[in-house]
Amino acid sequence: MKNECLNIGVKIQNIKVSNNKISADVTVNDEHNYVWYEFPKNQKLSERPANAFLVIFLPIAMKFGGIFEINGEISKSLYNNTFVYQDILLKWFPELKRVTIKANKISKDINYTKKRKTISCFTGGVDAFYTLIKNNKKINDLLYVWGFDIPLTEEKFFNKVKKNLSSVAKKFNKDIIFVKTNLGFEVTNKYASWGNFCYGPAIASVLLLMSENYNYCYMPSCNDYSVLVPRGSHIIINYLWNCDGLKFIYDGAEASRIEKVDFISDNDEVRKNLRVCYSSNDKYNCCKCEKCIRTMASLEALDKSGIIKTFPEKLNVKEIDNIELKNDSEMNFAKDTMIVALKNQKLELAKHLNYQIMNYKSNLLFKEINENFDTISLDKDFSNKSKEILLWHIDNNTKYVLNKTLKTTFKKIFKKFYNLIRKKR
Ligand SMILES: [Zn+2]
Repeated sequence: MKNECLNIGVKIQNIKVSNNKISADVTVNDEHNYVWYEFPKNQKLSERPANAFLVIFLPIAMKFGGIFEINGEISKSLYNNTFVYQDILLKWFPELKRVTIKANKISKDINYTKKRKTISCFTGGVDAFYTLIKNNKKINDLLYVWGFDIPLTEEKFFNKVKKNLSSVAKKFNKDIIFVKTNLGFEVTNKYASWGNFCYGPAIASVLLLMSENYNYCYMPSCNDYSVLVPRGSHIIINYLWNCDGLKFIYDGAEASRIEKVDFISDNDEVRKNLRVCYSSNDKYNCCKCEKCIRTMASLEALDKSGIIKTFPEKLNVKEIDNIELKNDSEMNFAKDTMIVALKNQKLELAKHLNYQIMNYKSNLLFKEINENFDTISLDKDFSNKSKEILLWHIDNNTKYVLNKTLKTTFKKIFKKFYNLIRKKR
């Protein structure tokens, strides 16, 4: 199909830079959005703001396909990288569509000659603290964006978080930049998952608007190298946003979540200020959601529960049973914690984590079987032939599950442990 025949899925126009604010009109699938970012008053802003809108709206444009039109000037290296970025996303999420990017002007990257600084994204969570403590000497400034994890309507709670983050920055001798935007809660969340698509590009878009001041940006990893599942921020995509001399560093994937908790928990600022919860708009950590329970379980497994003052409640291990793991990434956090719990003789904790993991795995298996059934096309009147196919399918799947879980696997496990016990004797 020729480009001329394609529809415009996303259109960016009227990009405006005034004082400390950058805004644009963004049409997504015929729906109008007014998007804005507000920076501290003294912040120098990029002379090529269209780069930021390209990065954050590309995954959303791929939901609709067609043309992604940008009325503005974009940098060449960023434009060139959009092809690989799209290749990766299309393999991760086959339901997306490739888009044709049309910008007013594609220019060579800006070459800033002045000395620039290193910034690190900082929410006060486990990954952010790990990256800050590890790279303390290299980091000049910290960045927090209001509108990404705290809604703009929650001003009172934001001010509470701001006070604590500012106190951490002061103790580490850093400046902290607070940016405010309606991008996340009011715009991108309507079209795409924050975790799978938007949070990496959203952070990159803020940094690209400040690229005159920074040449390195640390983006704390949320998974370690053993679990590189598709995420909005990922080692194979973040560098694709490098441009105008600004480089993004995916940091901390050498450590698992529980190793990070262990590493940071000796720090006084962590003990007073750690914030992992995105569910609360009142308490600092709600002590009930998956992220809170996950962190409390890690501390308990490490025999360090009670040292982090921002978790006022004690972990009730039975509550782990009520938390459903949503993806491989969360399953891996639970698995790492279970291994440490077993090592430290926290058997009750390990039992509940094991239950949580088994529950996740059996749900996956049932989902797979269910999807297999969906592939069968049955006649409208449900003929005898259809019944035969359906029964064959049920029979085979049952056999598969029984064979796999009962016969084959258990036989192997019993043999392994039988030999182990025999050797000990
Ligand atoms: Zn929570």
